[in-house]
Amino acid sequence: MSILPVVEVPEHVLREKALPVPKITAEIKKLLDDMMATMYAKNGVGLSGNQVGKRLRVVVIDCRDEDDNPLPYKLVNPVITYKSEETVLHSEGCLSLPKEYADVERAAEVEVNYLDENGVGRTLRADGLLAIALQHEIDHLDGVLFIDYLSPFKRKRLLQHLEKRRKKEGCV
Ligand code: ZN
Repeated sequence: MSILPVVEVPEHVLREKALPVPKITAEIKKLLDDMMATMYAKNGVGLSGNQVGKRLRVVVIDCRDEDDNPLPYKLVNPVITYKSEETVLHSEGCLSLPKEYADVERAAEVEVNYLDENGVGRTLRADGLLAIALQHEIDHLDGVLFIDYLSPFKRKRLLQHLEKRRKKEGCV
């Protein structure tokens, strides 16, 4: 397994709509494994195809520490089929906007249809952190970032803060 470079804002691929995976090949399985390894290496709880520069509808998630969920998930072509009216406010971060956090309101419970890495159709009903991670990662596949839910003022402030820190850390 390889650790992949994670794309950060303002890279354009983060704003592109990812394409459905037509067939789960050995390459797709390897991509899912590499994304999983990358997510663990970067201490993330989720990672999407766009974030490793691939315009493909693939997502990996592992929230086990917080919610005691049984498995890490590899999701191919995930679609949200249900969102509860009840919402929750949760502080979110993103490997593509490193070390920046903001409160985002999301549905408290969701249902997602997806293919697993063997091409088997599955339905996942989730609440807690897993529900939030699913919405955050599936947003990535549509070119949506968590900062899009913030007020223009808060979004600008967060991006300026990120820019400032990058300069300080000599990453620019
Ligand atoms: Zn993210």
